[in-house]
Amino acid sequence: MNKKTQKTKIIFTIGPATESNEILKALINEGVDICRINMAHANHEWTASIVEKVRNVCNSVNRHIAIMMDIKGPEVRTGDVPETYNLEKNEIFYFTYGEGIGNSTSDGYRRVDVNYPDFYRDIAVGNTVLVDSGLIRLEVLSIDGTNVKCKVMIPGPLGNRRHINLPGVRVKLPSLTKKDQGDVDVGVLLNIDFFALSFVREPKDIHMLQSYLESKGSEAKVIAKIEDQQAITNLGGIIKAADGLMVARGDLGVECSFEELPSIQSKAIKISINETKPVIVATQMLESMIDSPMPTRAEISDIANAVREQADCIMLSGETTIGKYPVECVHTMNRIASHIESEESSHHAKLRTDIRLRLPKSKMLRSAAQLAVELDAAIVVFTRKGLFPLKLSSLRPQIPIYAFTDQDTLFRQLLLLRGIEPFYMDFVSDHEATIQKAFNTLIEKGWSTKGDPIVVVTKMYAGDELIDTTQIRTL
Ligand code: PEP
Repeated sequence: MNKKTQKTKIIFTIGPATESNEILKALINEGVDICRINMAHANHEWTASIVEKVRNVCNSVNRHIAIMMDIKGPEVRTGDVPETYNLEKNEIFYFTYGEGIGNSTSDGYRRVDVNYPDFYRDIAVGNTVLVDSGLIRLEVLSIDGTNVKCKVMIPGPLGNRRHINLPGVRVKLPSLTKKDQGDVDVGVLLNIDFFALSFVREPKDIHMLQSYLESKGSEAKVIAKIEDQQAITNLGGIIKAADGLMVARGDLGVECSFEELPSIQSKAIKISINETKPVIVATQMLESMIDSPMPTRAEISDIANAVREQADCIMLSGETTIGKYPVECVHTMNRIASHIESEESSHHAKLRTDIRLRLPKSKMLRSAAQLAVELDAAIVVFTRKGLFPLKLSSLRPQIPIYAFTDQDTLFRQLLLLRGIEPFYMDFVSDHEATIQKAFNTLIEKGWSTKGDPIVVVTKMYAGDELIDTTQIRTL
């Protein structure tokens, strides 16, 4: 697969199906950009071994990918039951707190504990309790002390420690639990590139994790996972606060009416691009490929839709943690993304002119991108903080953008941005020598050929003053 011109990035979630050196190598060669570790299912020892393994495989194939740690966040779960309860329609069932393993209440109804002390305080009569991604649905009938009496509306089997969703209920759990803090501490030690925070409800959840990371000296970026109605209400503020957004369609499709999902996705992508923030579309993109080597026609259209909407990344979860065809899934995504991108000019302008850029130096980038589009040239940009590639990516220009940096973590973080191909390279004190070094890299690695037009965006000395410049060059 020639991924050289593909703009859409791919995240895969690592699990038993993909943790071997052999599969990792195949995935990295197939072109995945980011490896996601889901801390809902990972312990610290496994996490450390996976990070080491991914980095070793990257070194062995000489292609580097970023690592994202997905933090569980505030999550309500049931406790244990003595055996799987087959809940029946109209059965009266209790959620309790602190009573231990599920059994019967004094009046003979079945019950299970929840892991959250204030469950009975946050919930109200008439609310819906969804268990296991909505497979089981209950309605709250009454609240008696810490016991919440419900009626089963949609029956199903209830096993141990199942995930609970409470649509529309403001759960007062802290956004970073004790477990999350322990996970983040390990992630910081392992120099993880991105932390994705689950169930972000308001901008302050993001600020809190950012300050925590800063206090630990971490340069990691924070991705807000939007998963419930409160996040949708605060969407604009969350996007502004975060370094990126994940449309976590799994929980979102349970917490909101599922018919709203497509509009939420479109809105999230639109606002993110306008705010010059990267956006990820996640969950069930190729769900059928967990068991089948071919995608369904609906899945093909779902991926095509995310690519056409110009999301930065598309993500694989179960498909690569437990699926039978993880490498084929990445290949499938590449095929669809490359094809849809090749038709991009029939859906989008060659450059977004509507994105608001505030700083004068950011405004210069639009002129640089316009120039590159008119000359049919690639852009070469040099960066130490990542601002220029971030803004250039948001303009969605239909030309290649090569971003050179001498910052190790930033190099991997740039992999998240649509249309940005990052290169890690030492800069030299002479700016012209740095430019020539970058040009040689592009030729040696086969990204460009001699004679190609290039628009260069870099700092240069004008006398004693360091200024931002745009230059038309030939390779
Ligand atoms: C989701 O709910 O879509 C999601 C990505 O989160 P998780 O996999 O952590 O449930």
